[in-house]
Amino acid sequence: MAMPDSVKTSTEYPIPEKMKAWVLGDPGNLSYEDKAVPVPSRAEVLVRIDAVAICATDLEIIYHGPPAMIEGGLPFNKGFTPGHEYMGTVVALGPGVDEYKIGERVTVEIHAGCGQCKRCREGMYTSCHNYGKNYGDVDKGHRANGFTTDGGFTEYQVNHINTLVHVDDSMSDEEATLVVTAGTAMYGLTELGGLVAGESVVVTGPGPIGLLGVAVAKALGAQPVILTGTRDNRLDIGKQLGADHVINVRNENPVEAVRKLTNGKGVDYVVECSAAPNAVNDAAQMVNRGGKICLAAFPHESPGVDIAHLVRNNIYLYGIRGEGKTATHRAEAFMRQKRFDATLIHTHTFAMSDLLEAIRYAKDRVEDAIKVVVKNDHAVAKNAIAAE
Ligand SMILES: [Zn+2]
Ligand SMILES: [Zn+2]
Repeated sequence: MAMPDSVKTSTEYPIPEKMKAWVLGDPGNLSYEDKAVPVPSRAEVLVRIDAVAICATDLEIIYHGPPAMIEGGLPFNKGFTPGHEYMGTVVALGPGVDEYKIGERVTVEIHAGCGQCKRCREGMYTSCHNYGKNYGDVDKGHRANGFTTDGGFTEYQVNHINTLVHVDDSMSDEEATLVVTAGTAMYGLTELGGLVAGESVVVTGPGPIGLLGVAVAKALGAQPVILTGTRDNRLDIGKQLGADHVINVRNENPVEAVRKLTNGKGVDYVVECSAAPNAVNDAAQMVNRGGKICLAAFPHESPGVDIAHLVRNNIYLYGIRGEGKTATHRAEAFMRQKRFDATLIHTHTFAMSDLLEAIRYAKDRVEDAIKVVVKNDHAVAKNAIAAE
């Protein structure tokens, strides 16, 4: 028996002592190895991982390292398992847990935070002041799965109950993996001011967060919602998710196009998801005076920014990280109510053992891949039974 007596388990979900896990070696190098199944502590549950979506940030971590931080440094050759956009089934309860039941389907937020710093106390646990401090004599218990602790490219993982989001039965495993992406878009819009109904929004960059940013903005009542990008097929998906106008920046100047669509005024909000070199300056030209810009992408370079323009026009600039203030719960509510169809951005599914091929699809956008999901065999088997 792998679990101590203080952990509640059920014969319905027998837990093995070992599991298969993808482990990061040198940059870009993953191997499929045996690991011990982790044990949930107080206020934690053990999640049997059913499905995991691959995120652009996973690729950043696997090939470059940051924003992952393991034992105070880069995540390479430390036995670290990446992957953070996962969902699954609660199979064991740590001491004192009665908030969730064994057998309950859940999707997870990434960041548990330390729970004791100023930002965690404010609900901004994605900006925890003790980020990555969970080892040796600086152990503050910070958890961000797939960033500062082991993540989802495996069979089981422990999660703090604060990071769990109940998944409605009407939602497929694949759709449930997208809740955290929609939650990130929701957090960005919340931080910009929350009440978006009747206000105009530009989303730059039709990646997963941008596309679900369109969907969430529309579900919040924004009008018009304008999406910019370079790929027509993705812009079309943006339209299906609620964009009133799309602008292909290869064919027209996006700043001029946005100005034209808003009678020369510009929009109230820009959600920047493109990481394009001139994205901040373009966004500053797209918003109206007093408008707000949310930065949700990680650019590699640090381009020059026309700060005088920002100051003269009272433009607010917000960096947002991840999915704070339980935004995923609000995103899941929209998805449960079918306010938008997040599955439009899910394009491919692979077996967990085929993770390397799945990563190739995500990285090289093979067959126009957007969200690529990997599933464990037990989840595939469960769905086959459900379909009969
Ligand atoms: Zn992600
Ligand atoms: Zn904290």
